[in-house]
Order: sequence, then structure tokens, then C-alpha cells
Amino acid sequence: SDVRRSGVEKTETTCGYCAVGCRFEVHAKDDDFLAVQPTDPDHAPVNDFSTCVKGKFGYEFVDQETRLQTPLVKEDGEFREATWEEALSRVASEFAGIRDDHGPDALATFASSKGTNEEAYLVQKFARQVLGSKNIDNCARLCHSSTVAALKQTVGFGAMSNRINEDIGETDCYLITGSNTTESHPVLATRIKQNVRDGADLFVFDPRKVEIAEHATQYSRTRPGYDVAWINGMIRHIIDEGLHDEAFVEERTKNFEDLREKVEPFTPEEVERLTDVPPEELTRAAETIANADTCVFGWAMGMTQHSHGTQNVLALANLALVTGHVGKPGAGFSPFRGQNNVQGGGGDMGTLPNNLPGYQDVTDPEVLDRFAEVWGERPPGEVGLRVPEAFSEALAGNVHGMYVVGENPALSEPDLSHAREALEDLDFLVVQDIFMTETAEYADVVLPAATFAEKNGTFTNTERRVQLVGKAMDAPGEALPDWVIVQELANRLGFDWDYDSPADVMDEINDLVPIYGGISHDRLEAVGDGLQWPCRDADDPGTPFLYEEEFNFEDGLARFVPADMGEPGELPSEEYPLTLTSGRVLYHWHTGTLTRRVEGLMHHVGESFVEIHPETAERLGIEDGEPVLVESKRGEITVDARVTDRPGVGVVFIPMHFAAGAVNTLTRESFDAVSGIPEYKVASVRARPAGPD
Ligand code: SF4
Repeated sequence: SDVRRSGVEKTETTCGYCAVGCRFEVHAKDDDFLAVQPTDPDHAPVNDFSTCVKGKFGYEFVDQETRLQTPLVKEDGEFREATWEEALSRVASEFAGIRDDHGPDALATFASSKGTNEEAYLVQKFARQVLGSKNIDNCARLCHSSTVAALKQTVGFGAMSNRINEDIGETDCYLITGSNTTESHPVLATRIKQNVRDGADLFVFDPRKVEIAEHATQYSRTRPGYDVAWINGMIRHIIDEGLHDEAFVEERTKNFEDLREKVEPFTPEEVERLTDVPPEELTRAAETIANADTCVFGWAMGMTQHSHGTQNVLALANLALVTGHVGKPGAGFSPFRGQNNVQGGGGDMGTLPNNLPGYQDVTDPEVLDRFAEVWGERPPGEVGLRVPEAFSEALAGNVHGMYVVGENPALSEPDLSHAREALEDLDFLVVQDIFMTETAEYADVVLPAATFAEKNGTFTNTERRVQLVGKAMDAPGEALPDWVIVQELANRLGFDWDYDSPADVMDEINDLVPIYGGISHDRLEAVGDGLQWPCRDADDPGTPFLYEEEFNFEDGLARFVPADMGEPGELPSEEYPLTLTSGRVLYHWHTGTLTRRVEGLMHHVGESFVEIHPETAERLGIEDGEPVLVESKRGEITVDARVTDRPGVGVVFIPMHFAAGAVNTLTRESFDAVSGIPEYKVASVRARPAGPD
């Protein structure tokens, strides 16, 4: 055939960037990544033929020269190449030494949400079984941990309840808040915009006039950090006007009276005082949402990354429940998840300090017994350290060794100078990644890993859909898939893991994780368009949307958990009068490890910047395009000004993707009490033209 003659291999797979989960074919020749092309639309349930700019043009990083191709060990402060034999022996002996000297909890593992489910499962098993440590966490701590905490309390599953196309794409009404949907979840945003063009209402509440707001029925500018006020205000107005869904509240929920009482102080006037949202905007949105047949509630980091992020999500959940927009087609909760596999690898697979795979409680003796039966060892039955706690414990001298798989805390942690000090203080740091990241620079041993294009496995997208990932080429040099590396390490530490393939690992997951009980690679191959969990056995077709009959509690009822209004951890002061908020741009991804290596994307946005409202810029004497010095109590950065009315007066926005002008130099270690998420979305800063001093 043509294919054979040209030597081009075509492999169907799932996008490695965001959790929308677009599917396509990778075309490769002689281990060169040539192109991304559409695949059979029946195998691409979310995107059909389309992809966004990252999915289509963002894969230059895969076959770059600068990929890590051999293990590296540090000697006298310098890295040198090493064999796998040497590197793995060194890691095994150092980890064993720390465990013997200081106990297993002096070790902490930081898992990735970019690897496959099978890999995440093995990483948490490595931490718990092989290291015997309770300290396992992942980057979801920094993104949707407050969503998971809130939804588990109110409806039972810490996940999106609905589908991208059939529900989000078809609803009558949207409330989108704290989500820059167009730039962070592009293909999903296109569905929303199409549906709005066809007549759906769209309400956007956000401190920044993000692109999706241009399509809104109404855009309301809010003050960063006061979201509970306007959401409670909407609930109050809805109850006050008798617009709540009485039958739903009566039959499917409990604690309504507590909710009614809690929202009472949030009159439209009080909401305006707290948030600047005018009463007529609040009541119009509340009435339209309550009267709509179906409504979707979409949110992301703008809700979650606050010192009261869990309260924000509780408030949203209450609003969805009180209006009865849950558990039916076209409605539901849509926390838009970030990384390609954060739902699976960052949640379902138990890379969490309090949950074993499948959200099973790590302190439940029956659950521990079940794992002991399959593993041979009982996992530690205590809640471990969360990522930010592991860093403070490293600074306090209690955590001595860390295993970081595919994460970049040297750029992603709040208050970077602190986080970097912690990395420096560790006795032994192992970083497993595909590039020499900012974090890998601090490592004692660096292990070269494979990208999504170089391995098999599964990713779970934001709508709980488990989809296959296909190997299109070999990893460069001696780089290996994470699942192979972790297995090698486990065996060097005295275990005898013998997984032949990721499919083999999935069989063990089947056994231990009830919501994945019916998901196997063979079955995914046969169905073509993935399976949505819960999928409990081989005959279970999966669950397109949650809570149709009952909520995930023994009594089947949802709980109203009234949300408390809290102030941000840092308020503007005379010295630092501006409010900083951070976020993403379309062309980049997280700490930029991948996208800063793609010329075509760097051509669009090649460096960091600060958005400043024209009024603020004028007052501070800042011109569009000129370098600006931005300072907080933690540090300072210099970035170019973009004068625009996207942020409000007195608010500045800086993207999160760059090492030069890293925004987390400025952010603060202030955490949500329930979930431990850092407050990336509010910090107090000042700004002036950078010019000569
Ligand atoms: Fe990939 Fe997300 Fe873009 Fe789809 S929308 S192509 S999953 S980055």
C-alpha cells in the first residue's frame, strides 16, 4: 500500500495536552513525529475531526534534540550521563537508606497527571507498597482539589457529572465562572459557542473579561476572591422568588433549611457591596438560570484556587441543586479538568494522600485488606502529606527524599523562592521527565521518560471517559515509559513486579477499583469510543451522566452544604494596592515545559506579560508594551505591559507558563483549609515602569 511504501505509520491515540480528550491519528516515520490527522469520527466522540492549535501543531517537542535520552547523575554539582543500571541502583540505595534512617514517611512521591492511568496506578503502588510511605500526591492538589472536596460532600463523586457533546453542547443555559474556556479547553469552548449561537443563554461571571465572555448573554465582572457572595446571592433571590425546583429539593436533597438560612444575608445590595456586581445583573442571571429547562455549571481554576476554594464550589453545587439542574440530560456540573489525564491519573488512580485508587478511603480497614490481598502488603493506613505540606516538611527537615514524576514544582508551587529552597534542602531528589525542567536542575538523579506518543495505555478525560493511548514510535535514546521505569525501580528495591504491558496493569485496576471494574484494553479496543465510569463490570455500558436515579451516598440524597463567605488571604494595602490574578493563554500549557519548546507556539506568545487596565496604567504611568516591575512581599519580576480592559481597574493578570518572569515568584503560600489548594488567584502587588532606577 501507499502507507507501506512511504513507511508512514498511522496510530490512533488521545491528545496529550488537555482533558477535553480529543482523538486523532499520529503519523510517524522512523520515529519522527510527522503530523496529527483526523481519525475515524466514531473513535473521536468528543472532537470528530477537529483539534485546537496545541493538538494540531503542538507536538514539535516529541522529537526534539533536547529530549532527555540517558539517565543523568549529579556529581560535584554537575550532571553526567549514566547507565540505567547505575542510575537505578543509586536511586534504590538512596531511597532504602532514607527509609532505614528516618522511616518511610521521610520520603514523598509527586505523581503526574500527564502519564497514563496505568502509570499513575503504579506510581502510587510504588510509594505505598515499595517505599511503604503514605506520602503520595499529584498536581491536582494545585488545580481541582477543592472541586473534589466539595462535590464529594454534596453529591458523592468528585468529577464532572455530564458529557461534553450531548449535555454541555445541547443545554439551554450556561453559568461559566472562573474558566477561560476558549484558551484552556478550546474544542469544548467551540461547542459552547455554537450552542449559544443557536440560542442558548450564557452567563459569565469572572474578574477578567475572558474571550468566552464576548459571546455571553451577560458578562458580569466580579472582584477576585468574593465568589461565595454572588453565588449565595443568586440562591437567595431564587428561593425568595419561589423559583427553586421544589419537587427536586424535596425528593432528592437534604439540609435545605440550613441553606436557606445561610444565604439570607446576601441581598442583591449586599452582593453589590461585596463583589461590585449590580443587582439587576445578579437577579437577571439568577432568574434565567432558575427558569431554564436545563443549565450547565462550568468552572475551573478561577473558582478553585482560593483560600476558600472548597466553599466556592460548595456554593455552586448548592445553586445547581436548588434549581434541579443535575441528573438529567443537558444539565449538570462541569468542572473543566486541566491536564489530559488529571481525572484518571490525578484522581481515579489514587495518587492522593487520603484515597487509594477509586476514591477508596485510605483509613478504611476493609479497603486496606482488599489491597493487601492483591498486593501482598497492606498499604499504610494513614493520610499522607499533600504537595505543599511535603515542601514545608522538607524545609523543616522531616522529608529527606522526593520522587517527582513528570511535574515541575520549581515553577508551579506558590512563593517560588520557598519551594526552591525546599528542593535544595532535600538529601535526595529524583526527577523523571522528558526534558531537563526547572525542577530537574535540582535533582540528584534524572530519569529519561517517554511522551504520550511513545507508549500504550489509557487517559480519562474530563467527562470520565477512559480512552486508549497508542504507541506511535519508540522513545529517543534510552528513554523509557514511566511504567517500565517504576517497575524496574520496584524490583531493585526487592519486589517482583512482572507486568508485561499496560493492559496487564489495567487488569489489576479492574480488580481493585470498582468504578473501573468493567474497563479493559480489549473492551476499549472493541467499543472504539471509550467507556465512561462508573463502569462496574464487563456488561456495564458505562455512565454517560451521573445521578440520574440517585446521588452517590447510601441514602441516595444530595446534601446542601451551605458555603461560608471568606476573605482572600491577602488584601490590597497602601504598599501593595493592586490585586494579581494568574491564568493561561491558548498557545501554552502549564509551566511551559512542552510548549516553550514549540517554535510555532512561541511565535504567537513568546514571553510573559502583565495585563493592566487602561485606567490603572495611566495612573501608574505605564505605557503599552513597556517593561513593568511587578512586586509582592515575596519577590519581583519584570514583564512587558499589555494595556487592555480584560482585567478590571486595580487588577493585573500574568500568565503561568514562563520561567522568565515566573508569576509564582509573587504568589503566596496561603491554602484552602479543606483541600490544601494554594491561593494562586489572589495576591497583592504593586507595579511601576521598570526603567532605570
Ligand atoms: Fe488537545 Fe485539548 Fe486541544 Fe483537544 S482541545 S486538541 S484535547 S489540547
